[in-house]
Amino acid sequence: MDNKKLENKIKSINNYFSVKIIGKTYLKNKIFAINKIFNKNFRWVVITGGIHAREHLTCDLICYFLERLKKIKSLPYNISFVPLVNPDGAGLVLNGVKNLKQKAGLLAINKSGDFSLYKANARGVDLNNNFDANFDKNFSGIYRPSPHGYYGEKPFSERETRALRDWTKKISPFFTISYHLKGEEIYFDFFQDELRRERDKKIAEVFAKSTGYKIKSTQKCSSGGYKDWCVQKLKIPALTIEVGNDRFSHPFPKSELKQICAQNKNIFKDISAALKIFEKYNV
Ligand SMILES: [Zn+2]
Repeated sequence: MDNKKLENKIKSINNYFSVKIIGKTYLKNKIFAINKIFNKNFRWVVITGGIHAREHLTCDLICYFLERLKKIKSLPYNISFVPLVNPDGAGLVLNGVKNLKQKAGLLAINKSGDFSLYKANARGVDLNNNFDANFDKNFSGIYRPSPHGYYGEKPFSERETRALRDWTKKISPFFTISYHLKGEEIYFDFFQDELRRERDKKIAEVFAKSTGYKIKSTQKCSSGGYKDWCVQKLKIPALTIEVGNDRFSHPFPKSELKQICAQNKNIFKDISAALKIFEKYNV
């Protein structure tokens, strides 16, 4: 979904959550954090979606989580959802450039009027490469604005990554989950020391068991990601969860959303288990 649909969704659930605008994008879209506070002394978890434009179905998945959460009276942690980190990109994928003032520049980045496979933000930066985590290791070989894989001029050159960085630092979560599409895989590693690696792997295993997804190592080919930054700089467990079966291609069929929601329905129980593991290790 795009930011407009998300705003309508937020209006319909406003009574159950506290909603904050954590940033504004190049195309003047708001970036929302939707928060559920069970107890102000509890630790936080951050759950993000839609950092890659064409993966905006993860925003729909988070809306499903919000509906579920409406009915839950208590949990041992607080949750902050950032359902659509890249609203400009999602808008381009779903609505194209139409009458945008920035049309010419966007067409020059995309080299086509078809934005259905676009991943970057409206400045042609891949936001999940723009975090300060081994930023100099450019694995894409792309050095200019592009529909995907451009890291940006420097870490946090983008409004969206600065917004997510500042919000994350402010609430200081014990754990973060980033939803991406596709592959039914879970990534957790980014050069942790031995004990933290053991802790983070145990948490990944909780989610692998409940979703049926496979744990995969990506640390040899990943840099600049939100998960990478959380692990390296904040030293907390952080998962990237790639939902959606690989037999489908992008643009990913929306009809699969039901199956994806079913696979991820235990999320709140799994985060409770993650919290127990986190507290047990105390590293
Ligand atoms: Zn992605």
